[in-house]
Amino acid sequence: MSARKHSFRTRAIHVGNAIDPATGAVVPPIHLASTFKQPGAGEWGEFDYSRSGNPTRSNLQSTLASLDDAAGALAFSSGMAAIHCVTMMLSSGDHVVAGCDLYGGAYRLLHKICSRSGIEVTLVDMTDLAAVDAAIGPKTRLVWGETIGNPRMTIIDLPALAKIVHAKNALLGVDNTFGTPALVRPIEHGVDIVMHSATKYLGGHSDCLGGTLASATKAIHDELYYIQNATGAVLDPLSCHLVARGIKTLDLRVREQSGTALQLATWLESHPKVKSVLYPGLESHPQHQLAKQTLQGGFGGMVTFELDGSIEETARVCESTRLFHLAVSLGAVESLIEQPATMSHASYDAADRARFGITDGLIRLSVGLESFDDLRDDLTAAIG
Ligand SMILES: *Cc1c(COP(=O)(O)O)cnc(C)c1O
Repeated sequence: MSARKHSFRTRAIHVGNAIDPATGAVVPPIHLASTFKQPGAGEWGEFDYSRSGNPTRSNLQSTLASLDDAAGALAFSSGMAAIHCVTMMLSSGDHVVAGCDLYGGAYRLLHKICSRSGIEVTLVDMTDLAAVDAAIGPKTRLVWGETIGNPRMTIIDLPALAKIVHAKNALLGVDNTFGTPALVRPIEHGVDIVMHSATKYLGGHSDCLGGTLASATKAIHDELYYIQNATGAVLDPLSCHLVARGIKTLDLRVREQSGTALQLATWLESHPKVKSVLYPGLESHPQHQLAKQTLQGGFGGMVTFELDGSIEETARVCESTRLFHLAVSLGAVESLIEQPATMSHASYDAADRARFGITDGLIRLSVGLESFDDLRDDLTAAIG
């Protein structure tokens, strides 16, 4: 199939979902086999052992590579396993520059685990390109950011950043979990490695864990595959199927969620008890213009706002919604609410939370597919 000619939505449904030649099934079978019979001793077929390769995982990986315009893609047991695989490209003495409003788990991996192998980390504000440039030293091998930062919704200037990073011979990796390939495909902007927590928008239904990496070149893909196969954090076939099923409606879901999120952000901005709203789709967002250039057709389903209240008052609001469930995670059909200071970003050191603006009054929403009116009424009742 000449996949490249088809639009994103069409590829999300057709690439990696070929008709099963044995039965004509329009959904490919789920291959649970852990091992595969070989043509002869020392002769290998396409698949041999499921850690190294599995037909269901291969199908998903071909969909992922197509959607991200990548040379290749890999599916991992979680988003953290995917980021960990990237960090395993590094050796003792190497240096990483990462964004300062980073997913809490990525912060912990870099500071508490990679540090054990002698890898050094510097956090910088990725919106300040001069600061990123200055932070890259002779030992910097990797620059890691988030297309939409977490929880402050900062936007990265991907082409400008890629230029700076490549001039210093480092690799640029981005976590595009909040952006999703429906809104932005970072490889088109010069990024080397794109990561998604498939647990979030790709799966989209809060019913499986997964992570993905897409690479700009075959050389990077091959190195990541080598590490994944050697260390083993592959996605199981049932979860591959769930992620593949979720991806078929990704574009529709993300666009709808973006529309509702923009309505909610606009409404929150005029609420008397709300101090500020961080949403890339609002004119008031410091990088609204960049967001318009970077994100296509929507600004994502994540909204952060700051209440004029204490840590306890903020917690109480998060605890009193009825439709928004109080939970970490994001990107699914049901809306979620959480307090970054005590939940998603609790793994930050307190000093870093203060330094990077993760204040006690922040509330983060993951906007689902419920109606705007119902979600607004729910927040009205909770905020008071
Ligand atoms: C959830 C998340 C991760 C980690 O993914 P898991 O699937 O939970 O391991 C990484 N980055 C972002 C932005 C996330 O939201």
